[in-house]
Amino acid sequence: MPHICRDCKRAFGTQLELDLHRDNCDDGQLFCDECGERFAERRATEDGWHYRCPSEECEGTGIGEDIHKVPDARLEVP
Ligand SMILES: [Zn+2]
Ligand SMILES: [Zn+2]
Repeated sequence: MPHICRDCKRAFGTQLELDLHRDNCDDGQLFCDECGERFAERRATEDGWHYRCPSEECEGTGIGEDIHKVPDARLEVP
């Protein structure tokens, strides 16, 4: 069974390949602190100003508040 990137829909043969891809996926560059989900910017905003986590059960909102760009979030990891 292929492993499919939820953001760009590319398929990979192994979970490892998918994990490596998701680190670089252009369609998954935002990260929600509330639920830990990663998603494409276009899924989180309609006007480029107000951001909301696309996860249905998550209340995460606001770029720089609950939602971070992945490279920014990484800087906090030792
Ligand atoms: Zn992808
Ligand atoms: Zn969320």
